[in-house]
Amino acid sequence: MHIAVVIQDRCQFKKCNYECRTYCPPVRMGIDVVVITEKGYPRIVEELCEGCGICVHKCPFEAVKIIGLPEELQEDLVHQYGENGFRLYRLPTVQSGKVIGLLGPNGVGKTTALKILSGEVIPNLGDFNTAPSWDRVIEHFSGTVMADYFLKLRDGDIRTALKPQYVDKIPRVFSGRVKDLLANVDASRVDEVASMLDIEKSLNRDVDKLSGGELQSVAIAATLLKDADVYFFDEPSSYLDISQRLKIASIIKNLAEKKIVFVVEHDLAILDFLADATHILYGSEGAYGIVSQVRATRNAINSYLQGYLREENIRFREWKIEFVEHPPKKRMDLPILVSWPYIKKRYEDFILEVQPGEIKIGEVIGVVGPNATGKTTFVKILAGVLKPDEGSIENEVKVSYKPQYIKPQFEGTVEELLYVTLKDKMSNGFFKAEVMHPLNIRHIMSKEVQDLSGGEMQQLAIALCLGRDADLYLLDEPSAYLDSNQRMIAAKVIRRVMENTGKSALVVDHDVYFIDIIADNIMVFEGEPAVHGVGKGPYNMRNGMNEFLQGVGITFRRDKESRRPRINTPGSYTDREQKARGEYYYA
Ligand code: ADP
Ligand code: ADP
Ligand code: MG
Repeated sequence: MHIAVVIQDRCQFKKCNYECRTYCPPVRMGIDVVVITEKGYPRIVEELCEGCGICVHKCPFEAVKIIGLPEELQEDLVHQYGENGFRLYRLPTVQSGKVIGLLGPNGVGKTTALKILSGEVIPNLGDFNTAPSWDRVIEHFSGTVMADYFLKLRDGDIRTALKPQYVDKIPRVFSGRVKDLLANVDASRVDEVASMLDIEKSLNRDVDKLSGGELQSVAIAATLLKDADVYFFDEPSSYLDISQRLKIASIIKNLAEKKIVFVVEHDLAILDFLADATHILYGSEGAYGIVSQVRATRNAINSYLQGYLREENIRFREWKIEFVEHPPKKRMDLPILVSWPYIKKRYEDFILEVQPGEIKIGEVIGVVGPNATGKTTFVKILAGVLKPDEGSIENEVKVSYKPQYIKPQFEGTVEELLYVTLKDKMSNGFFKAEVMHPLNIRHIMSKEVQDLSGGEMQQLAIALCLGRDADLYLLDEPSAYLDSNQRMIAAKVIRRVMENTGKSALVVDHDVYFIDIIADNIMVFEGEPAVHGVGKGPYNMRNGMNEFLQGVGITFRRDKESRRPRINTPGSYTDREQKARGEYYYA
């Protein structure tokens, strides 16, 4: 069996000659395999298509996918977004008393699966021409636990609550104070839940004035306030710092003691800590996704990194994601790019102090620490955008800065934006091969900047940042909205650019795996958020992570098989033993 997919996001029928149709062998013999629809998109008639794949290679925009799939998968088709649309095969299993994780790249149906299980989308079982109905779904799944689940969902005997993926959109659908937003859900428990998530101070603020992290916490609070039987959290960690991630992880774990809980999460350290069992989703972005059988989360993550499902004997990625305990670069050998003495910067309500330090040429410095401890402020001081009250940057350097929140102002396509901003850099071979290609920019070239997904926007912002000429590249939370795989790729891209050009980078991020892969050395920010921040370092990874994790109160060990860092269960023997030795990270 093969499926034919036309990815409408990519299809630019106005800019091509319908190569998918022109070169199709059956079409040339008079068989209408590819027809042009009223809207202008090509429609590939699957029953007639022989699966030769010539259209795939001829399409200038890589908008067509013809994919061979095992015949028996057909009966597991759960939902299809129209003819030549995305298909989701199988569903995660419903289990109470456990947090069930969903792990997979962007575009393979994780959100779709959550929408189906939450009742927001009635799956059409592949029949996209008739209106879907729960009755048909229940019959389809008859004899399985899913039939019972959907029956209760249909009859309102199961209530669901979903934390949506994009919290940035909340201000567009709600205006007013946080308190009112939460009171709309359940006024009686607002104070309790607000204190659980540490958002008491935000209650009287307007939703459109919140930072990303605050919005995320409010969205999680609103979900928890709902009196439901099944809870879904679609990417709950974006914008939160590590302590906040751990906090929500504990809250979600507690919730699962009595409820059914599903979580989509790309921060693998957090997923590992949070989910009891995990389904890997794999497939082809925008074309199809398969929900694999559930595994213990440790095995799921290791399989995911390997790109191979042993039980099913399926390789879904050509290469492995590898963690190396990279031997620290010898800092002394490198010349200094920029150095600073003791620095103090005062805002009305906030004081930042930074201890003396330096950045060497060619190194990547990771920056870790809680939200609102002055990381961005420090970055702006380095960039010369802000003047400190005490101390000054000796040799100001030219910086290229990717801010944390990327609000696209640009009216036009990605291609236009890139040419306006980067000009001749666009034809630079190294830039094309080592930045544009791995960040998948060619797939979004003709998209309107305003229409990009969160992940696409992030990849574009990273490419733009790296494309500008500078001595120091400052990237503030580049992992937000990227899937685990894209994070590893972005980390490698940033490293490679620095290694090749001898430039330096300062990367602020909360994903420990990302920091582990990207950083030669790290700076640690501490203090009382929104009141007083202290920046320290750069340290080598071992000392820096020890300093940082001591503040957070957690320890990591390395997984024996994959070498990836894993959070130790708080209070466990290993946790206590490592704390006693002062080894929070490399055990
Ligand atoms: P994930 O959460 O894994 O990133 P999604 O479930 O959001 O994946 O989407 C999977 C694919 O389904 C997307 O690449 C998109 O092409 C398609 N898709 C999602 N929603 C719709 C929709 N409402 N109509 C048509 N296609 C959709
Ligand atoms: P981080 O990057 O660690 O999240 P920031 O440097 O963005 O922290 O902010 C540190 C603190 O300084 C926050 O409490 C923030 O509200 C405050 N702050 C940032 N910029 C300004 C400003 N221009 N005026 C007043 N306060 C500010
Ligand atoms: Mg999603």
